Amino acid sequence: MDIKCLKCGSSKYYVKTAIFPQKDSGLKIHLGAYYLKVCIECGFTEIYEAAIVDKEKEEKPEPVPEY
Ligand SMILES: [Zn+2]
Repeated sequence: MDIKCLKCGSSKYYVKTAIFPQKDSGLKIHLGAYYLKVCIECGFTEIYEAAIVDKEKEEKPEPVPEY
């Protein structure tokens, strides 16, 4: 994910997970997960599709810190 806010350039943000219903072809509705990146400086919100973000993570796994 891009770290800096597109509007004000702040790197302070928090991430929320949101579930939105999506219409497939026809009448089927399935739920899609999204990540909302909310800038705490100006409130600008970017939306990422969780399935794609998670797929990118799988390709580049980050080392998990051990406690
Ligand atoms: Zn901002």
